Amino acid sequence: NVRLEDIKRRFNNVTAIEDITFEIPDGEFWVLVGPSGCGKSTILRTIAGLETATSGKLYIGDRLVNNIPARQRDVAMVFQNYALYPHMSVAENIGFGLQMRKVDRKIIQERVMNVARSLSLDHLLDRKPKQLSGGQQQRVALGRAIAREPQVFLLDEPLSNLDAQLRDDTRAELKQLHQELGITTIYVTHDQVEAMTLADKIVVLNRGRIQQIGDPQTIYASPSNQMVATFLGSPP
Ligand code: ATP
Ligand code: MG
Repeated sequence: NVRLEDIKRRFNNVTAIEDITFEIPDGEFWVLVGPSGCGKSTILRTIAGLETATSGKLYIGDRLVNNIPARQRDVAMVFQNYALYPHMSVAENIGFGLQMRKVDRKIIQERVMNVARSLSLDHLLDRKPKQLSGGQQQRVALGRAIAREPQVFLLDEPLSNLDAQLRDDTRAELKQLHQELGITTIYVTHDQVEAMTLADKIVVLNRGRIQQIGDPQTIYASPSNQMVATFLGSPP
């Protein structure tokens, strides 16, 4: 599980997030939503270890990780502005994290193939990133992160560069992958449809604070305040 206890992050005199407390059971898919600047990326980056909490406690599994560097957390993160290795093929990009960990070549090949198949990339394994469309590149970035089979998978608006059709397809692929692998996932979006269709639990944020946590149906039907209702488009 992933557990945040009263996490706060301040940048000089700006408080980006505060009072952030939640616990994600193993294998669940949680979605963070809220308007621009509400602190979604800061929460993900703190869990990934790319940001340090100003106060509060962060646990991954039973391990307090506040002072554990990013590389030593069993976490993979995909950004909106993913970067692939331009000189490597699709297969090499996807297998990169495994190769770094000196996983056996046969196992890497197998896992790369499986991930590529789930993300409809299996016919592109020998291409270089520049020979791919933007959507294909984005799926390679997802594949590279997921092939590592991390304990926690963090996704910061990973579909936002895609057109509507590709977005729907990739969303379905992601959901399928999650059901197969059961990796605890935290997903940031400001797309309500994405949140409603993917989430076991939705966390609604505003101005750095949690407004409500709940499953999609409950939160949609019984928003705890006006901000949540407006944001999710709940009926009045
Ligand atoms: P968006 O939907 O636009 O990506 P977000 O919810 O991801 O927004 P964050 O990036 O987490 O928002 O930012 C939360 C707040 O913290 C914002 O007010 C932002 O300006 C501030 N902030 C984030 N990073 C820094 C930084 N490195 N230095 C100063 N302020 C920062
Ligand atoms: Mg952000």
